[in-house]
Amino acid sequence: MRMSRLFTKTSKAAPHDAESANAKLLMRGGFVHQEMAGVYSWLPLGLRVLRKVEAVIREEMDALGAQEVLMPALQPKENWMTTARWDSMDDLYKVTSRTDKEFALGPTHEEIVTPLVRDFVRSYKDLPTAVYQIQTKYRDELRPKSGVLRGREFGMKDLYSFHATKEDLDAFYAEAIEAYVRVFTRCGVDVKVVEASGGAFTKKFSHEFQVETPAGEDVILACGACTFAQNGEIATLKEGDACPQCGAPLALTKGVEAGNIFDLGQRFSEPFDFGVTMEDGSRQLVYMGCYGIGSTRLVGTIVEAKHDDRGMIWPKGVAPMPVHLVALSSKDVATHAKIMETAEGIHDDLMASGTEVLWDDRDASPGEKLADADLIGLPLRLLVSEKTLVEDAVEWKLRASDESRLVKHGDVMEEVATFVKE
Ligand code: ATP
Ligand code: MG
Repeated sequence: MRMSRLFTKTSKAAPHDAESANAKLLMRGGFVHQEMAGVYSWLPLGLRVLRKVEAVIREEMDALGAQEVLMPALQPKENWMTTARWDSMDDLYKVTSRTDKEFALGPTHEEIVTPLVRDFVRSYKDLPTAVYQIQTKYRDELRPKSGVLRGREFGMKDLYSFHATKEDLDAFYAEAIEAYVRVFTRCGVDVKVVEASGGAFTKKFSHEFQVETPAGEDVILACGACTFAQNGEIATLKEGDACPQCGAPLALTKGVEAGNIFDLGQRFSEPFDFGVTMEDGSRQLVYMGCYGIGSTRLVGTIVEAKHDDRGMIWPKGVAPMPVHLVALSSKDVATHAKIMETAEGIHDDLMASGTEVLWDDRDASPGEKLADADLIGLPLRLLVSEKTLVEDAVEWKLRASDESRLVKHGDVMEEVATFVKE
């Protein structure tokens, strides 16, 4: 991709009301555009990250055996009356039609998925089953201030599982925890699995998936060495205690909740009367679990966890593309032409080999190009300049490191291929 053709531009300063690192950097880099508080457009570079995050989530959900669906954001009021959440959910957006009919804009989908799956499932033999979607949610958040961490419109992956027995739900729930840890690890962030109370959903238990960053709204007591953590408010352990999982000391820190899973029990199967015929002929209400990951929040969380004062530092698994190719201009016309020709050759070879590359072919100063490469934060920067031409090489530098080295032209393709794969 040629940077000169990207319709977005980077900017040196963030909008004055952007408080958090993710809001500042995503906006300065041209990854997202704020339309109003808590509502963003996703631009080419940002959308690439979001799609990569979604692809990781999709793979792990498919591996769990869940089936992908897409449910509506516009939802019937009756379903929300059935569960008594029309009046009790403070952040529910309510929409009125021109004929005075009322609807909900879905903040979550238990009200849709429960009667939907009920329409197809009759007997215990049809269970267990699990469905998920990656879809846009609406919540009337009071203070959507942390960039894409808290939106009024945001992306979520929501998975719902249905079981004939409590034991079966427990077994699936444990598998879901493992799948979640894989999702976050593949997205390049360390995740803590926090046992929490069930909140508004249920009296049963739930788990939060917290990513440690100063931008987090939640206080957690976390192990520095493994995934163990407790919610700071309800912690039974204290700072300095040994981690019950691995023995390392626990410390109080801040986390962003990137995912949350709940044992719903029969909270939703009961009001929708979703029962199945059991082996002995009796009828039994199904057990449900729900499992959310904020996909857009996860993009913001990655930025919060992976940046420095110069810009974003994208983990390879979710970077918009792995390689940023920079061609520095030269005052000498012939040398300049040679630099551009060399860079174009590398760009074309990489693209032909299936490696996506952002090529800064703009007519801009070296300082501007290098600052933009740091801001955009692609994992590997390849630089072609007067100096590297003399060496018949390119400069190779990882965004996450300050060291650079020269790689001979003839070795670039192979080294990049190895880098992308490893
Ligand atoms: P929070 O406590 O942060 O408000 P929640 O408990 O309301 O989150 P859930 O209802 O469990 O969140 O939603 C599942 C996931 O969706 C959350 O773990 C989070 O990653 C994401 N999420 C929730 N609310 C928002 C929001 N307003 N903007 C972006 N992502 C969100
Ligand atoms: Mg909330």
